[in-house]
Amino acid sequence: MISVEEALAYVLRHFQPLEPERVPLLESLDRVLTDDIVSDINVPPFNNSAMDGYAVIADDIANASREYPITLPVIGDVAAGYTASRAVERGTAMRIMTGAPLPPGADAVVRFEETSEGRESDAKDFSTAPRASTRKDAKGRESVDILKAIQRGDNVRAAGEDIRVGEVVFPKGTVVRPGEIGVMASLGRKYVSVHRRPRVAILATGDELVAIDEPITPGKIRNSNEYSNAAAVLKAGGVPVQLGIARDNIGDLTAKIRAGLDADVDLFLTSAGVSVGDYDIVKDVLNAEGEMRFWQVKMKPGKPLAFGVLRGKKPVPLLGLPGNPVSAMVSFEVFARPAILTMLGKTKFARPTVRAIFREAITNDSQRRNFVRVVVEKRGEEYIARSTGEQGSGILTSVARANGLLVVPEDVTRVRAGEMVEIQLLDESEFL
Ligand code: AMP
Ligand code: MG
Repeated sequence: MISVEEALAYVLRHFQPLEPERVPLLESLDRVLTDDIVSDINVPPFNNSAMDGYAVIADDIANASREYPITLPVIGDVAAGYTASRAVERGTAMRIMTGAPLPPGADAVVRFEETSEGRESDAKDFSTAPRASTRKDAKGRESVDILKAIQRGDNVRAAGEDIRVGEVVFPKGTVVRPGEIGVMASLGRKYVSVHRRPRVAILATGDELVAIDEPITPGKIRNSNEYSNAAAVLKAGGVPVQLGIARDNIGDLTAKIRAGLDADVDLFLTSAGVSVGDYDIVKDVLNAEGEMRFWQVKMKPGKPLAFGVLRGKKPVPLLGLPGNPVSAMVSFEVFARPAILTMLGKTKFARPTVRAIFREAITNDSQRRNFVRVVVEKRGEEYIARSTGEQGSGILTSVARANGLLVVPEDVTRVRAGEMVEIQLLDESEFL
């Protein structure tokens, strides 16, 4: 028997990030940048107002207060998307909207709330206050009363305060999320370079299998592994290439494997036919088509596992997953998912975890690592977890009902009810 770590290390040695491809910005989501993103602009590109208010020279209103307002003539206004037609000179103010460029000369913005355009009380609503255009100063000019002193730079977003010209904003290797997409959009990157998605062949083997749209005749079951594996490939970021069912005979299996290789795949997944008790057809064909190892991995479920490299136009790694639907899914999680993530250029494979109180007693006499499918829920301040029930490797609903895995180490023979455990979360938090 081989440990999970030994098997995984051997498998992962055969994978590396795939070559770059240029994709439209949005298609880079959840993928990994192959180049540094260097900015050729300042963000923001110009000094601009962070508030609706009045652009002023801070020194002019150094003594302003509600008791002693300073009245300034309003020399114009500037909206977002436009530039001021003139400069703000000593002793004047310009009405300005959020995002509008700060007029030359001005060095700060006073919010409406701190002018006569806001209410001179604590009332939130200043829409009823007299607008600047209705107020006149002693010389009959439009004017505004400033009710508060501010510092130079107040309510101003400085050019380049977010990103500077020449800055490496995201180094290569960055995983792209909506925030990165937004920043790259502001830098004008309509296309970006990311690692190509791996194409993953999925081939089920077995005379007992029928396609999912076929009736179940005596002795037959539906080919569920093709779909659970294809879905898991999609979730990991790969492109599934569904090859259907190969019958347990040399001719059919050989033909389907070659068809998969012709489909230019980067990873081949088969299910079934690799356990000790199986007829040797799958093993014979895999041995004939490549360089294979057949393992007994110290894990439960998922003990039988094959791994090797097929000889195609290019060498293609093959993972022979167990046939049992639960074993196939857990083995995918442990071995295929990290392989796919590696090809995408990702380096972190661990699932997020929570500490939870386990509500059941579990015994583990197998001396294998036990992957218990669990439901975790938040109850008040704490998380509680319990198994999804019957854990047989054919009970596929034990996976469907789960949102986490409790990994019981090889040398731990029991988990007591009430014990604090760490749960690996399999899904997004909406399932918690
Ligand atoms: P095997 O690894 O061939 O011994 O298969 C183990 C168990 O998994 C048997 O009960 C098979 O019928 C079942 N099985 C194998 N392949 C599939 C599949 N593609 N979908 C669902 N069950 C399967
Ligand atoms: Mg079989």
